[in-house]
Amino acid sequence: MSKAVPGSQFDVAVLGAGIVGVSAGVAARQRGLSVVVIDRREPGSETSYGNAGILSSGSILPLNRPSLWSALPSYLGNTSAALRWNPMWVMRNLDWVARFLGNAVPSRTRPRAVALHGLITASLKLHREWIVKANAAQRIRETGWLKAWRSDAMEAAKGEQAFLAGFGIASELLDRQAISALEPNILPVYKVGLLHTQTASVDSPGAVTKAYAQMLKSLGGEVRQSDIKAIESAGQGSADQGWRVVLGDGAISARHVVVALGPWSADILRPLGYRVPLATERGYHQEFTPNPARSLRRPIHDAEGNFLMTPMENGIRVTSGVELTDRDAPSSLAQLDMVVRLARGVAEFGSAVGEPWRGARPTLPDSLPMIGKAPQHRGLWLAFGNQHIGFTTGPATGDAIAAMIAGEQPSFDASAFAPARYI
Ligand SMILES: Cc1cc2nc3c(=O)[nH]c(=O)nc-3n(C[C@H](O)[C@H](O)[C@H](O)COP(=O)(O)OP(=O)(O)OC[C@H]3O[C@@H](n4cnc5c(N)ncnc54)[C@H](O)[C@@H]3O)c2cc1C
Repeated sequence: MSKAVPGSQFDVAVLGAGIVGVSAGVAARQRGLSVVVIDRREPGSETSYGNAGILSSGSILPLNRPSLWSALPSYLGNTSAALRWNPMWVMRNLDWVARFLGNAVPSRTRPRAVALHGLITASLKLHREWIVKANAAQRIRETGWLKAWRSDAMEAAKGEQAFLAGFGIASELLDRQAISALEPNILPVYKVGLLHTQTASVDSPGAVTKAYAQMLKSLGGEVRQSDIKAIESAGQGSADQGWRVVLGDGAISARHVVVALGPWSADILRPLGYRVPLATERGYHQEFTPNPARSLRRPIHDAEGNFLMTPMENGIRVTSGVELTDRDAPSSLAQLDMVVRLARGVAEFGSAVGEPWRGARPTLPDSLPMIGKAPQHRGLWLAFGNQHIGFTTGPATGDAIAAMIAGEQPSFDASAFAPARYI
């Protein structure tokens, strides 16, 4: 393996040190390339910090699936905990909304589930390897993920179980008693449960991303904290000259640039002529002091309350549903307040720890990430749009990009994720 030379000339410059960017850096360095990962904040400080920490084996059905149509009427009043939408945003983004809904048909759902299953399977394998190598194995819990219904939803749960089984994804059906045996410290509000047994979770996704960044450094990669201003083709027409990355405090050169800026990815590509249809499905979390005598053993997804509750290092993290609006619009805490009230009726926890957190899930109209080369530029690679499952899928997204840069085949079929489908 060639040693990475600290300085300003690299084989690969990765833009963004969220889970996707850090993973691309690790995977490129593992292939002997010199690597710098650049972020204006510390690694894992944005979306990869505030998520629910679930490493989900079963999230292969995107939100824009056929059942979305029957749920739409309940969203029209804009009072649902599952989805809030800003009418002005919808008017300005009708094209994205139409394309997102256009994918919610049966013929476009199974192929996307197949593609996501390949990505997720490869990524869970990497997470389980890397978390040990990164000395963070104490953060992963192999206790599964409980999806639970308050109503008598046995048929829905059975349907979901059969669908997952078709992909070889294991789960267990639970009744009220079995749920209580599994999670003795929650109140008996759920009639039906589906335990995703091959799903894991972590107690701090931000800390896991930081541990992977530390692993990158120990492999000889560089992590640099700078504001990224622009990327410029260094060759002005000559395809092999590589790239110049303009930073707030200087510039670096690289043969390859990987855009892994999560919800900010479209901004940097606009000056190069790419109009990426990337929307942000915003979401919130609030953490609460746990009651050690009434602790949770695993994340719980309240299917009808539309929230997740995960035991984290610093307390119980309650995360909200989707808010469709501009990425940087002011926060609106109505959805979060609604689900926190519901969560208090399930688990016993104390006062809020810190302020509510807001993040943005980066989503393309087909809910598949972009993983591959930019169609019009040599040496420019795109790795973003991992929507609700980016913490799960970050490692394989980054690994596939590193494989492509090295001229190898990714470990899963990445054809459905080719950026050229949109740009
Ligand atoms: C409420 C919520 C719950 C979620 N729960 C889960 C879950 O349980 N499991 C799961 O798998 N996924 C979950 N997700 C999704 C997941 O968090 C994201 O898909 C994933 O973190 C995206 O990672 P990323 O690396 O693409 O982006 P990010 O983590 O946002 O990284 C992008 C980085 O780019 C940097 N950046 C941007 N612009 C610049 C610039 N100009 N200069 C320098 N740096 C810049 C940012 O500082 C940031 O660090 C959840 C998301 C939300 C919002």
